[in-house]
Amino acid sequence: MNYNEILERQREFFATHKTKNLKYRKEQLEKLKRIIQNNENLLNEAIYKDFGKSKADTFTTEISFVLNDIDYYLKNLNSLAKPKRVKTNLLNQPGTSKIYPEPLGNTLIIGAWNYPYQLTLSPAVAAIAAGNTVIAKPSEIAANTMQVMARIINENFNPDVFYCMEGGIEETTEILKEKFDKIFFTGSTRVGKIIYEAAAKHLTPVTLELGGKSPAIVTKNSDYKIAAKRIVWGKFLNAGQTCVAPDYVLVDQSIEEKFLEYLKEYIVEFNYREGSEHYTRIINQRNFSRLTNLIHKEKIYLGGNYSEQNLHIEPTVLRGVDWDDAVMKEEIFGPVLPVLTYNVLNEALNEITAHEKPLAAYIFTNDHGEKKLFTDKISFGGGCINDVVMHLSNGSLPFGGVGNSGIGSYHGKYGFETFSHQKAVLERATWGEPNLKYPPYTENKLKW
Ligand code: NAD
Repeated sequence: MNYNEILERQREFFATHKTKNLKYRKEQLEKLKRIIQNNENLLNEAIYKDFGKSKADTFTTEISFVLNDIDYYLKNLNSLAKPKRVKTNLLNQPGTSKIYPEPLGNTLIIGAWNYPYQLTLSPAVAAIAAGNTVIAKPSEIAANTMQVMARIINENFNPDVFYCMEGGIEETTEILKEKFDKIFFTGSTRVGKIIYEAAAKHLTPVTLELGGKSPAIVTKNSDYKIAAKRIVWGKFLNAGQTCVAPDYVLVDQSIEEKFLEYLKEYIVEFNYREGSEHYTRIINQRNFSRLTNLIHKEKIYLGGNYSEQNLHIEPTVLRGVDWDDAVMKEEIFGPVLPVLTYNVLNEALNEITAHEKPLAAYIFTNDHGEKKLFTDKISFGGGCINDVVMHLSNGSLPFGGVGNSGIGSYHGKYGFETFSHQKAVLERATWGEPNLKYPPYTENKLKW
């Protein structure tokens, strides 16, 4: 069966209204949960082949996310899907007004390679919970994880409702010609624009989860030891191949030396090095070469070594970096951390706002005024004060970008809304006609 046939079948299936049944949706979610749990070893092996990623890291950054999402929707589906009553204005009295969340229909989900399970399956979970059919296309760059997802999904699900499509640019370009009711894309800003253009041809709504250069600011009013610890964890997790990883640090010049020493201390303490269980490798040769070219030898403070054969790059901290350096011209997406200094916080914030809006931004400070300046002045998708990355683990917060870092959001109730249409219905009583509404509009009527 080719992908167009699958889509045709999904269209027919959606038209039967079966996916609107909440029990049916819950059965699909429960099935997915069972499949993931029963195949955890296969999933772990595949990601190990792609990245050298450990079982523990795969569970905390991938599997647990998807399972938590499934549990969230199983628990909250009834209330999320329930029509919501809202106020009715005087003009429409007597009457009631309700919003009916309805599934959009046939959805296409395109994933990125860096967290292949989470980035493909979490949106799929939200789409199924909201009553849609799904064709999910994981990234071909993480080839083993793509194959295992396709196998376990396609062996267990009716393709009329959930199908996992294998393929790269060619296959994706082909399927994008089709009309979907929603496209959810995770990946680069460059490809995001291609997806948006293809979707526009059919007026298909999109959610674009893109990237960018996410800053971490460390002020002199911070607990900068904690800042260093959290930044080291968030940056070198998955060897920096995390969309919300701090891309670079802006530190107050007066504390730079001490902050750099703490960075070094935690890189050693967390054992982030080649061969360590919790330090992954770079996904492929292309990214490896791109990253090693960004390591400006004279600016290395720490690390800088790499092994081409194993696609490993040491956690590398660059010092004395400025905005004109190559490493500041693109999203790094790897274990290279440039540290820039500033004298006046406001000027550092101006530098950030002079660039594209990042997916995430972080500030470490205990000063109320600085926190306010940060949240008021910089536009970013989401972020943290006194931490990095963790905002995405709170399902009560919407997760998504702004400007160049994306359109729309998901997680928790936002995921459900992303895959739903909010259908607005006013129900009028058949008594209590407001005469003012109808012509002829005499002067007396118009006075009102
Ligand atoms: P990518 O844009 O290269 O690929 C993403 C997906 O698009 C893949 O499934 C790929 O097959 C498909 N694709 C690639 N070229 C295509 C084309 N010409 N036409 C149609 N489809 C195409 O991104 P990537 O390298 O997989 O991921 C890295 C980027 O993703 C980084 O910028 C990162 O910040 C971003 N990202 C964002 C999030 C988020 O949640 N916002 C999460 C992870 C990664």
